Amino acid sequence: MIVDYHMHLRGQLEGGSEPLRHSLDTMQRFVERALELGVDEIAFTEHAYYFTQTREIWTLPYQLDRCTFDLDVYCEVIGRAKDRGLPVKLGLEVDYVDGRQERLAELLDGYPWDLLLGSIHWLGDLSVDESADAENGVWQRLGVEEIWRAYFDALAEFAVGGLVDVLAHPDLVKIFDIRPGRNIEEELYASAAATIGRSGVAVEVSTAGLRKPVSELYPDPYFLAACAREGVPVTLASDAHQPDLVGEDYEAALKLLRATGISDVAVFTARDRRLEALPS
Ligand SMILES: [Zn+2]
Ligand SMILES: [Zn+2]
Repeated sequence: MIVDYHMHLRGQLEGGSEPLRHSLDTMQRFVERALELGVDEIAFTEHAYYFTQTREIWTLPYQLDRCTFDLDVYCEVIGRAKDRGLPVKLGLEVDYVDGRQERLAELLDGYPWDLLLGSIHWLGDLSVDESADAENGVWQRLGVEEIWRAYFDALAEFAVGGLVDVLAHPDLVKIFDIRPGRNIEEELYASAAATIGRSGVAVEVSTAGLRKPVSELYPDPYFLAACAREGVPVTLASDAHQPDLVGEDYEAALKLLRATGISDVAVFTARDRRLEALPS
């Protein structure tokens, strides 16, 4: 079985931004692309900060500007697609918010999620991945090793918090290829893998990194191998914001999984996880 468990239900680009399009027609285009490529099941995982129901959590203009959509509509349209037999799952990309994670989880409680992704795009008020020279970004404010350590501290906290099912793009911090040196990276990867192994959450193998300055899959092969040794299950993801990116570069992801000796993928229904064999 092949899944794509990370995508954003957006319409065509309009003036540089991608509006959310909560319609069955838009969803159908993502599904068609998936089926064309032999991807059996996809999950929509919009950012939590897009929905007014979570508004009290957000503090940054980037988040508040986007916080205009109705979570009930999002859940309902995906529910209708399921009722029609489309192979879709209801998910959300839940951002790490220092100190407010439990409240965010409360606000998201009661919706019929199949899976919740956890991702770290901000450390405090500073963006990790907006751009390497953004004034509100970590890279202009903190030292490289300090950033990497803070990122992995947040990742560990997220893993053990039990609020999400999968850690998305787990080493996103490498996005701009700004690195503290291989020894430190491997120390952080090994220690994160041990924590994730104890926590019981899965990690995502994402092809999105191939489209970023780092031009690598998430996670690093060393990190993935360490996770595999700890028995951490994996999902597969493109992080597509448009239908034509669903399943993008999956040959590379499947090759990495095979090289790491991983033969199963985690499949989620109502936040319950089972393992299915990947194609050999
Ligand atoms: Zn993300
Ligand atoms: Zn995403």
